[in-house]
Amino acid sequence: MDYTGYCVKCKKKNVKMENPKLVPMKGKGKVKRHAISGTCPSCGTKMFRIVSAADAADFGK
Ligand SMILES: [Zn+2]
Repeated sequence: MDYTGYCVKCKKKNVKMENPKLVPMKGKGKVKRHAISGTCPSCGTKMFRIVSAADAADFGK
């Protein structure tokens, strides 16, 4: 599965992340959140995208 995000440096939407990694996020209360972290293939800027629990479970498939 490909993950896309917004690159603040290129100001481009739907940039395909390079080396996407699943990152657990500490939320307040009982809410557990996950995000995908990767880098922009054009400029190397770190990109970040919050995903649903279902998407997190599907990560790497
Ligand atoms: Zn970029």
